[in-house]
Amino acid sequence: MNTIATTRGDTSRRRGPALDVAVVGGGMVGAATALALARAGFATALIEARAPSPWSLQDEVDLRVVGLAPSSIALLDDLGVWASIRDSRAGPYAHMHVWDAATGATIHFDAATDGRDLLGYIVENNLVQWTLWQALEVAGVRRLCPAQVSGYEVLEDRVQLALTGAETDGLSARLLVAADGANSPLRSMAGIDTEGRDYAQRGVVAHVRTERPHEGTAWQRFLETGPLALLPLADGRSSIVWSLPEAEAQRALSLDDQAFCDALGVASDFRLGRIVASTKRAAFPLRLQLAGSYQAERLVLLGDAAHTVHPLAGQGVNLGLRDVVELRDTLVAAREAGSDIAAAHVLRRYARRRRSADTFDALSFDALARIYAWQSPALVAARGLGVRIVNKLSPIKRRLAGHAAGL
Ligand SMILES: Cc1cc2nc3c(=O)[nH]c(=O)nc-3n(C[C@H](O)[C@H](O)[C@H](O)COP(=O)(O)OP(=O)(O)OC[C@H]3O[C@@H](n4cnc5c(N)ncnc54)[C@H](O)[C@@H]3O)c2cc1C
Repeated sequence: MNTIATTRGDTSRRRGPALDVAVVGGGMVGAATALALARAGFATALIEARAPSPWSLQDEVDLRVVGLAPSSIALLDDLGVWASIRDSRAGPYAHMHVWDAATGATIHFDAATDGRDLLGYIVENNLVQWTLWQALEVAGVRRLCPAQVSGYEVLEDRVQLALTGAETDGLSARLLVAADGANSPLRSMAGIDTEGRDYAQRGVVAHVRTERPHEGTAWQRFLETGPLALLPLADGRSSIVWSLPEAEAQRALSLDDQAFCDALGVASDFRLGRIVASTKRAAFPLRLQLAGSYQAERLVLLGDAAHTVHPLAGQGVNLGLRDVVELRDTLVAAREAGSDIAAAHVLRRYARRRRSADTFDALSFDALARIYAWQSPALVAARGLGVRIVNKLSPIKRRLAGHAAGL
């Protein structure tokens, strides 16, 4: 038995589990999981440590934005929340333009090439989270917030959770879903290791006003220090993710606004002209991290609890939302087959499929980060040649775009 912490005396031990699924972590991925499972007819609870802040159009755009791929939009649409998110504040983009500072080699993606209108949308993390939270209430998901899981015990037919900060100190469910972020306490409680590497870099984020319009394009310039992305916001500004070695990131954070805008203008090669204004800045550590397994007894991992990837491909949350679809479909199939939804063979199916797909993507992004870090003149020239060739090969570009879209 996987006893993690002492559970308190609870009469629910003698009854069947109260819930089918308890999801821990109500970020974008956990909230989408709870909603998807509730909509599929599973009795679901969501446990979150911090209440999300209400989103309002009057508020400054959240510094944490994500690029949503078509696969993520399809899930949010299926959950009935996409139209509200899109109509609140979302920046559509139909082009992606990537170029190499060292060689000038470019690669350009255009949605129209694949007969699509758009490649995706740039949206605020807290807008998506807040919209999902409101839908959870309507879908009848029991929300425990603020509340934290302090331990759990695996019993024959359920997991018994010990909670702190909630109106109840215990809860039981057939399946425990850990969506509690990159430092996942549940992953540690389950004894699941991680592998990967620290990029020794930080992603500096801010929203900037540029001299020229962003043209509904996600721009990314690869520099020796790391990539700089300018992502199109709905209000005409661009959101930047500037990956820099630790010390340089600290320096970028400490510059005054004018000096920061000037440095950013140079780093972006003035592609959108001068940087006219910037919001406050923040920085996030960048690391590649994959859980050794996405599964333990009556427990699965998803979202950043299972994987974190370099932001250069803007895919972190898209991988997490693909985990959600796979988990929902797996649990629905198990229920239809009359199986326990948390039986080891059921969870293995989810874990194998998603871990291999996420590993492929995470290692591909890591390979790109390594290739763009090459500095030897011969390798840099080879990289430039390779990029130019790929840019001319429509079938390869179509496959890359289709993969990023999650299609
Ligand atoms: C600089 C940067 C840029 C990025 N850009 C993009 C992009 O363009 N596109 C993209 O797809 N992704 C991007 N990402 C990645 C993306 O932001 C994450 O993958 C995504 O937000 C992870 O969502 P999550 O719900 O799994 O985790 P989180 O958002 O971390 O949510 C975890 C939740 O669990 C809660 N929690 C933790 N412990 C407990 C506990 N014990 N009990 C209860 N609750 C708990 C936390 O309070 C939190 O709300 C970027 C990331 C960075 C750092």
